[in-house]
Amino acid sequence: LVEDECPADSQTLGRATWTFLHTMAAYYPERADAQQQATMKTLLTSFSQFYPCGRCAAHLREEMAEHPPAVATRTELSQWMCRTHNAVNTMLGKAQFDCSRVDERWRDGPSDGRCSWAQDVE
Ligand code: FAD
Repeated sequence: LVEDECPADSQTLGRATWTFLHTMAAYYPERADAQQQATMKTLLTSFSQFYPCGRCAAHLREEMAEHPPAVATRTELSQWMCRTHNAVNTMLGKAQFDCSRVDERWRDGPSDGRCSWAQDVE
């Protein structure tokens, strides 16, 4: 694919980044200790400074100021990430994602076993 040999545009970068962010949230500790919570906050804050799409990063900083990351548990972080992605979806006129399905989408795969490779991640 030619696309694989070219620098990422904001769409390719966005898809790859959401894959990383949602998957990271899906495998975050069930109950994070104080150190893990602080590290995740630092990661997200740093991320929002350096994400290499200026207008996206600015929007993310605004979103995080209004709705600070929920980092106490895996479920909280996954749901926060889903809401944050949905805020971007709204801004871009895209459909809302049903946040009750984040684990199915990003960790477990559909129950019919179509994504049996999903367990390779961890
Ligand atoms: P994406 O939105 O990239 O989604 C990928 C997959 O995630 C979808 O196929 C779906 O299965 C799943 N998904 C969708 N919504 C959710 C959700 N709420 N929770 C869990 N899973 C979900 N683009 C701009 O043009 N302007 C911006 O300001 C902008 N800001 C961005 C900010 C951040 C932090 C990031 C990571 C990306 C941003 N983007 C922005 C890129 C944009 O969000 C999309 O990634 C890009 O438009 C490609 O969209 P897509 O339709 O391929 O799917």
